Amino acid sequence: KKMNSLDITTVEKPHAVCIPYPAQGHITPMLKLAKVLHFKGFHITFVNTEFNHKRLLKSRGADSLNGFPSFRFETIPDGLPESDVDATQDTPTLCESLRKTCLVPFRNLLAKLNHSRHVPPVSCIVSDGVMSFTLIASEELGIPEVFFWTISACGLLCYLHNGQLVKKGLVPLKDSSYMTNGYLETAIDWLPGIKEILLRDFPSFFRTIDPHDIMLQVLQEECGRAKHASAIILNTFEALEHDVLEALSSMLPPVYPIGPLTLLLNHVTDEDLKTIGSNLWKEDRECLKWLDTNEPKSVIYVNFGSITVMTNHQLIEFAWGLANSGKTFLWVIRPDLVDENTILPYEFVLETKDRGQLSGWCPQEEVLAHPAIGGFLTHSGWNSTIESLCNGVPMICWPFFAEQPTNCRFCCKEWGVGMQIEGDVTRDRVERLVRELMEGQKGKELTMKALEWKKLAEDATILKEGSSFLNYDNMVRQVLLSDN
Ligand code: UDP
Repeated sequence: KKMNSLDITTVEKPHAVCIPYPAQGHITPMLKLAKVLHFKGFHITFVNTEFNHKRLLKSRGADSLNGFPSFRFETIPDGLPESDVDATQDTPTLCESLRKTCLVPFRNLLAKLNHSRHVPPVSCIVSDGVMSFTLIASEELGIPEVFFWTISACGLLCYLHNGQLVKKGLVPLKDSSYMTNGYLETAIDWLPGIKEILLRDFPSFFRTIDPHDIMLQVLQEECGRAKHASAIILNTFEALEHDVLEALSSMLPPVYPIGPLTLLLNHVTDEDLKTIGSNLWKEDRECLKWLDTNEPKSVIYVNFGSITVMTNHQLIEFAWGLANSGKTFLWVIRPDLVDENTILPYEFVLETKDRGQLSGWCPQEEVLAHPAIGGFLTHSGWNSTIESLCNGVPMICWPFFAEQPTNCRFCCKEWGVGMQIEGDVTRDRVERLVRELMEGQKGKELTMKALEWKKLAEDATILKEGSSFLNYDNMVRQVLLSDN
C-alpha cells in the first residue's frame, strides 16, 4: 500500500479539533470540512459524543472509526442518561445538556491532546456555531476558533435578530391564538439583506408563547457568542445568498461562505478518506439499484431528514397523495419518522407496488445525483436543500421546524426552485404539487432554475478562481494558520 498523507503525522502539522453539534445534519457537513482541512495538511481530531460514536460503530462498523494517524476520532459525553436507542435526540433537551455539561470534558480532552507525544499541539478549534461553549476553551489556550454554522445564511440572519424581535414585542407570541389568527402573516421589512419576509417564514423557535423558552435562550446565547469567534464559516456560496451574506458581514467577525462543501470535497483526492462516513443509520443501498431501472427524471424522491416527526394522519395523507399522483416515487421512512405504531394501508402498498419504492435510510447524495430523480419532496433542511441544488433537482417543500421555513421561503420566492405545501398536508395538495413538479410547466421552470444554480455552485467550488474555493483558502491562511 502506498504511503499517503493519512499515514503520516508530524509534530509540525497544524492541528484542528473539529467538534460538530451532535445531530446528523451537523456531523455530516463538519466531517466534510474536516476532510478538506486534512487535505490542506492539518492533523484532525474529530470529536463525537459517546452516544453518536456508538451509533456510528453500529451503522458503519469499527473500521470506519479507527481513523488514521493524522485523522483521529475522540469522544466526550453529552451529559444525558445512557441510551441504546437508534433515534434522534430531542433538540431542546440536548441543547440544554450540552451547554451545561460539555465544557469540562472538552477542556480535559484538549489537555490530553496537548500532553500527547503522538499528536501535534492543538493549534485551532473548528466548532459548530451552536456549540459555543468551546470558545471558552480556545480563549484559555489562546488559539483561534472558527464557528461553522451548518445552516443557511438566511437562517442565521433571522436567528441573529432574536434580540430585536423580542425588543419590538413580536416574540414571544401573546398567546396561542396568535398561531392561527393571521398574526404570523405580519411582514417584516426592516431586516438588512432581506427586503420582506413574513413572520411565519422565520425559524420556528420564534413561534413560542413562553418568554423563558429554552430554544430562545439557547439562540440568544449562541448568537451572542458568534461575535467573539475568529471567523464564521457557512456552507453556502456567494451567488446564492449575496445580499444576506453582505448583511451578515456587518454583524459578525469575517464570514467565509465556502459551500457547497459536497462540491469543495471534489478537490480531496485521498481514497482512504472516503472510507470515513457519518451516517448514523445503516444505509440501505438497494434503492440505487431500483433507481437504475427507471427513466431519467421520472422519480420523485421523498425524504424528511433525520429529525422530522409527523402524525399518523400526515403520513397517510402523503401516502395517498403520492399514490394518486400516478408518479413513480422513492420514499425513505425513518423508523422514528412517526411517533405512533404505524403501518401504511395495505391498499396503498398494493396500488403502488409497481411504481413505489419504500426504503430505509439511504445514501441521499447518491440518490439526488441519480439521473432517474426528477424532484425532491423535502422538509427543507439546509443540507438537503443544498444537496438538491448541487444536483439541479427542484423541490416540494414541507418545512418542519428550526430555520426550515426560512429555507423554504428562499427556495420558493428567491431562488425559483421550490413549491411549498401550504397549510395542513392533504392528499389533494400533495397529488397536485407532485403532478405539477413532475409533468407541469412550473416543474420545468423550477428544473431549469435548479440546473442554473447547480452550475453556479460548481463554478464557486470546483474552479480555482471560484468564490468558495478562494474563501476557503483565505480562511485557512488568514484565520486557522494566522499568517496574513
Ligand atoms: N440523509 C441521508 N439519508 C437519508 C436521509 C438524510 O444521507 O435517508 C442525509 C442528507 O443527505 C443530509 C442529512 O442527512 O446530509 C440531513 O440533513 P438536513 O439538514 O437536510 O436535515 P436534518 O436531518 O438536520 O433535519
